[in-house]
Amino acid sequence: MAVLATAPAPSTAARRQTATVVDPPQSPTGPAPSGLLTARTSEDYAALLHRTVDRLADRFASVDAPSAGPDLERLRHLVGAADLDGPGVGSGAALAEADSLYARNAVWFHHPAYLAHLNCPVAVPAVAAEAMLGAINTSVDTYDQSLVGTLMEQRLVAWTAERIGFTGGDGVFTSGGTQSNLQALFLARTRAERTSGEPRSSLLPRLRVLSTDAAHFSVSRSAALLGLDEDAVRTVATDADGRMDPRALRTLLAHLHAAGDTVMAVVATAGTTDRGLVDPIAPIAEVTSAAGVWLHVDAAYGGGLLVSPRRRHLLDGIEHADSVTVDYHKTWFQPVSSSALVVRDPADLAAAAHHADYLNPAAEAASEDAEPNQVDRSLQTTRRFDALKLWTTLRALGPEHIGSMVDAICDLAIAVRAHLEEDPDLHVQGTTDLSTVILRFQPPGVPDAVADDLQARIRRDLFRSGRAMVARTTIDGVPCLKLTLLNPETTVADVAAVLEHVRATGEQLLAGTEATR
Ligand SMILES: *Cc1c(COP(=O)(O)O)cnc(C)c1O
Repeated sequence: MAVLATAPAPSTAARRQTATVVDPPQSPTGPAPSGLLTARTSEDYAALLHRTVDRLADRFASVDAPSAGPDLERLRHLVGAADLDGPGVGSGAALAEADSLYARNAVWFHHPAYLAHLNCPVAVPAVAAEAMLGAINTSVDTYDQSLVGTLMEQRLVAWTAERIGFTGGDGVFTSGGTQSNLQALFLARTRAERTSGEPRSSLLPRLRVLSTDAAHFSVSRSAALLGLDEDAVRTVATDADGRMDPRALRTLLAHLHAAGDTVMAVVATAGTTDRGLVDPIAPIAEVTSAAGVWLHVDAAYGGGLLVSPRRRHLLDGIEHADSVTVDYHKTWFQPVSSSALVVRDPADLAAAAHHADYLNPAAEAASEDAEPNQVDRSLQTTRRFDALKLWTTLRALGPEHIGSMVDAICDLAIAVRAHLEEDPDLHVQGTTDLSTVILRFQPPGVPDAVADDLQARIRRDLFRSGRAMVARTTIDGVPCLKLTLLNPETTVADVAAVLEHVRATGEQLLAGTEATR
């Protein structure tokens, strides 16, 4: 993978032989330190972090499976054994315990046999930045709590907006795509209310949201949270592959309009969670523009295409959206959490602002020398400075490199599909625009009903073995297995090895099924 050859190598953990961690922290003079990070504990802090990072680096270097196994009883016992009411054991012991309890039993998304959900390996500079923002504990709700942090977040939002093609867009970092989608629909509802001038009580029952049935569940959950009717989310038909059909959208819009309904938003998905399909945004935007309807593009998964050297065209038309969700913690290789909601027209965001006297008083917000308070834009109050992670990643690697990694995982999906083309037992289902591969284990002669039953059991047995992790899903009513490829260092051979586990597990289960028949 040429792109990776030129990538800055992940720094090996500094093998610093640190001074012994003072444990519990003690100070030669004055009252005993509180265990909080202050001027007096700065050396203890450094020693503790070095030691913690060294241990973790060893694990990264040596873990040989995506997990140590999911034995619920064993894990419950380990978690229950810690005495939370006992006297403190000191930071060194507590962190050593966290290493053996948590890290030893974690799921490792960087492992090449982890192919299950939308979890990415994370960029090294972002992980270092995470340690930084955690220690300083900036909250980006108001300028007076964050100073440069607010400006860095604003610059990154503006940068993302530019990549989308918005001129003068706005937005805010959120905890994830679920929250970004909720906020987008909240803003759309605000606009619908303002446009109609009707009281909320009479408008709400008539508000509709349109998406395909592959839209993320947070869309219908958000509609419910926003007080919309149970049947407010209407399904737009798709083409044979599963992408939204713009003509069907136009027809449905006209139909709902004639019925007296108000379509509050159309949600197009740029990268469906299951199949990684990108709805055709440009023709959809033509329809929504003509109808004057809010277009939200949920690019939680496909947002990385914004920096892709070879696949940016999949997002053509996204510049016409009213709002866009981008999850940096998926295809931008950022640690959880890191997402943004970006809007084309800053007025849409401002319309939903809330002003509190103790934070961002309305009178000051309107004044000449108003301080930039991000809380005006957010559903959260206290909020992490997640933007620092993306900032350091962009500065360290450059956007082109991130985009090349997105291309690499999409290329990997194509190669895996090709690898399976002639396979008699493993059948690829449907197509993808991104990096998922959906398949079904069904050797010749195995009846559909038996195969239906088998897929979830294969996933479970692999999961229990800890040796490989795949997901399962149902496509058009057919149970399948799913690979989500988000590691650009994973090779076709790595995936092929997992697929051999899938086959072996499936054959074993089949043998068992036949034995009990
Ligand atoms: C993952 C995903 C979400 C939800 O994002 P979170 O960050 O998990 O809250 C929303 N939409 C799509 C299309 C997704 O793939």
